[in-house]
Amino acid sequence: MAWFKKVRTPIQPQAKKESRVPEGLWVKCPSCSEVIYNKDLAATLNVCPKCAHHFRIGAVERLRMLFDGPWDDYDTELQSTDPLKFVDTKPYRSRLDATIAATGMKDAVICATGRIEGIESSVAAMEYSFIGGSMGVVVGEKITRAIERAIERRLPVVIVSSSGGARMMEGALSLMQMAKISAALARLDRARLPYVSVLTDPTTGGVTASFAMLGDVNIAEPKALIGFAGPRVIEQTIRQKLPEGFQRSEFLLDHGMLDLVVDRRELKAAVARALRFGLPADGPARRAPVVAPQP
Ligand SMILES: [Zn+2]
Repeated sequence: MAWFKKVRTPIQPQAKKESRVPEGLWVKCPSCSEVIYNKDLAATLNVCPKCAHHFRIGAVERLRMLFDGPWDDYDTELQSTDPLKFVDTKPYRSRLDATIAATGMKDAVICATGRIEGIESSVAAMEYSFIGGSMGVVVGEKITRAIERAIERRLPVVIVSSSGGARMMEGALSLMQMAKISAALARLDRARLPYVSVLTDPTTGGVTASFAMLGDVNIAEPKALIGFAGPRVIEQTIRQKLPEGFQRSEFLLDHGMLDLVVDRRELKAAVARALRFGLPADGPARRAPVVAPQP
């Protein structure tokens, strides 16, 4: 018989204490690793105060940043009908339903009218979190209507792009949107109304290849990825190493593809300046459209 008996019970693992710090209060900058308080980041329009890294922002934040006050939304009920009954890793229908539930939006763009430094404008802002900001039939139709609304009401147009390109789940129907929007922009041009294109990270594929590059003024945010095909595809096609910084805003500005690269904190002022330049104070916007011969 043992003189001593082990009476100790093993130490119980400590019950997990509830963290008193709520999730998502701090954000780490992917560029300089600075830890930033969420509210500070919101105050600087989601630009890192230390290194000026531009975090991606959604369409609603974009409109809030551009407009002076409240705005009017249009065509909020338009929704894709999945015309091709497309299935990849999962059916397009269920992908759409899940994204609509997650984002509260019906498709990847918000079209609105409101005032930018007092200038009434028709603005379309794309939402990257909605299937990569891809342009399907609904995005094409909504942007086209936003341009037509501008022509009708004599307003300038601002489109903020943030997109992976055309939506492959809608096949050729999504590619047709490139021509449709470009044609609407040509009508806007004939009506002598300005169009400012704002390219944000990322602007690629069919969006770059159509309306994003058609602005009277093309403004990009710093270090945004802007291109048509991805660098890997280009390298494989031309069998050459691509230069440093290829497909970034600054590179494109140096090579004459953009007019301006503007920090987000100064973007609203830059857009307003471009609009004022296109719309002189005596107001061509208020005059009847100049009837130009159809090409
Ligand atoms: Zn930073």
